[in-house]
Amino acid sequence: MSYSFVYPGALHMHTTYSDGTGTFPEVIAAARAAGLRWIIVTDHDSLEGRSYAGWHDGVLVIVGHEITPDRNHFLALGLDDVVDRQQRPQQYVDEVYGRGGFGIIAHPDERVKNSFKDCYRWDDWTVDGPRQRAGRPVGIELWNLMSDWGESLTPANRYLHFFVPALGLSGPTPATMAWWDRLNMVGRRTFGVGGLDAHAFRHRVPWGEVEVFPYRWLFGTLTNYLLLPEPLSADPAVATRQVYTSLGEGRSYFVNRMDGAAPAIIFTASRGDERYTMGDSADSDLGPLLIEVDVGADAYVRLIADGEVLTSGVRRIRQSVAEGAVYRLEGYVGGKPWLFTNPIYVAD
Ligand SMILES: [Zn+2]
Ligand SMILES: [Zn+2]
Repeated sequence: MSYSFVYPGALHMHTTYSDGTGTFPEVIAAARAAGLRWIIVTDHDSLEGRSYAGWHDGVLVIVGHEITPDRNHFLALGLDDVVDRQQRPQQYVDEVYGRGGFGIIAHPDERVKNSFKDCYRWDDWTVDGPRQRAGRPVGIELWNLMSDWGESLTPANRYLHFFVPALGLSGPTPATMAWWDRLNMVGRRTFGVGGLDAHAFRHRVPWGEVEVFPYRWLFGTLTNYLLLPEPLSADPAVATRQVYTSLGEGRSYFVNRMDGAAPAIIFTASRGDERYTMGDSADSDLGPLLIEVDVGADAYVRLIADGEVLTSGVRRIRQSVAEGAVYRLEGYVGGKPWLFTNPIYVAD
């Protein structure tokens, strides 16, 4: 199948139905202004915004919820009712899947509690999905923008990092990426996403009040590009399933658009007429595959095989591979993390 339709969107955001400061119409308008085609809103333990699910003038709004006990937050998707958060993570994850939904482990590697944020770490990394996984998709929020920014905040740098937010961003933590690679290498396929955790919190400062950060601004940062075999349907229920399928199969990549958009990257493995892309499985038995990369910008790109850098280049890579591995891409602009793809899975 060819996946020639690319839809930019964002996930993990909060509205006035939990602790965000924006209403649904405000959030939707901000998404549209930022050029997004879909958003997934995940208020804390609430599906009150469900009546807004559907198409809003070119923006598909999907409403899930974030299960938020003291730690171990989980974005639950595809459910009609809120899951009780007073359970162990394994229990509520099992319940999400038992009810036919799926989900994404949120901001797993938080380590810091400070004046801006608490530590909402995912404590037990042996819990990476339902006990009965059986091919059901599970995601990890590899990079959570607000969490990343908040982790490095100190009384000394808070104003500088507010006015130059990029200084407060480090990208996905090495431990998160290593966990993700390990799961994919042992066949526990897990898709990766970038999340915003948008709240537009209002904070008192000496000169009044500031918003950290407005929705419109955040929507211009971490953007997930979904690859689809056909356009999103005009029927919102069908379009929502298309988004879920694309996410679940790992047919996506995400980019920090502060350092440039990436609406049409090439990341394929081919052999003769066979062509594979993110989320596909290929076999190395029938001969080597040619991996071709073009991220469309002068970024430094690294081809990762089973968690190790196989090769790198500026903008483009061409690499013949004969070995089975989990192949994925990372891109950096000016030394800063910029782009992360889901893998192409090549079996031996
Ligand atoms: Zn959370
Ligand atoms: Zn959140």
